[in-house]
Amino acid sequence: MAAGHAPVSPAVKAGAGGGKAGTKAGAAKGAAKGAAKGATRPALSGKRKQVAPPPSPAPRRNKAVANAAAAAHGKTLARTLTAWSEEEIAEAFTRFEAQDPEPKGELNHTDAFTLLVAVVLSAQATDTGVNKATHGLFAAASTPAAMVTLGEEEVARHIRTLGLYRGKAKNVVELSRLLLERHAGVVPRDRAALEALPGVGRKTANVVLNIAFGVPTIAVDTHLFRVANRTGLAPGPTPLAVELGLEARIPDRFKLHAHHWLILHGRYICKATRPECGRCIIADLCRWPEKRF
Ligand code: SF4
Repeated sequence: MAAGHAPVSPAVKAGAGGGKAGTKAGAAKGAAKGAAKGATRPALSGKRKQVAPPPSPAPRRNKAVANAAAAAHGKTLARTLTAWSEEEIAEAFTRFEAQDPEPKGELNHTDAFTLLVAVVLSAQATDTGVNKATHGLFAAASTPAAMVTLGEEEVARHIRTLGLYRGKAKNVVELSRLLLERHAGVVPRDRAALEALPGVGRKTANVVLNIAFGVPTIAVDTHLFRVANRTGLAPGPTPLAVELGLEARIPDRFKLHAHHWLILHGRYICKATRPECGRCIIADLCRWPEKRF
């Protein structure tokens, strides 16, 4: 995990929930007290002290609704003249860099092939879940030839905790076979060749090109898509539009690490349902109208 991007600790979570629970408990206690007073002193009912109503809870959204709201906000920003200036963009990435100079992805891998497999498995799955599955899988097979020998059934058995595992197992074995057939078992440093492999789309190719080969690509996942739209950094209706917007705006010197900084920011700070604006290092630059402090 990248330094400075620690996940919310259970204590913090408990604190947030505890506050709510405390409000409920306080209200119940107050109601019970009021009822007891009312029973013994009915004559005072007209002079009761005015009690302020409890604060209304912050709006809660599920992740899909939160991400859609971010996209809608991005659409609005794109029509208005509130785009980030070059100075603001440079300032944001200077802060990200100062906080975490060498951000890293969180998928366990040992080389370009195991990275490629891990990213293919990460669709609709968390990095933690993928790492648990690949622990056994890579112990059994960590090269294209070994993966083909292991076979679809065994690969599926290792990754059965992941969603869509049967289709993923089929893709992993087939892409291994194609790597042997077309690229002598070596992962190509080429977008078109990568995207020609089963289970490999633009985002996966971008991750592999960036991490394995040091190409300054920007892989737009759900976190980055949300952050780009919420902040107004690069609003766009699709991941590709956001990717191209970021590529056009981010200064070259920040491009190699930009997607890691933004993904980690979205994963741990600018979260879908409860963004932690109070801990956000770009809060003063962000255009999201629902910031919470
Ligand atoms: S201020 Fe809040 S909404 Fe804006 S980027 Fe930071 S965490 Fe996200």
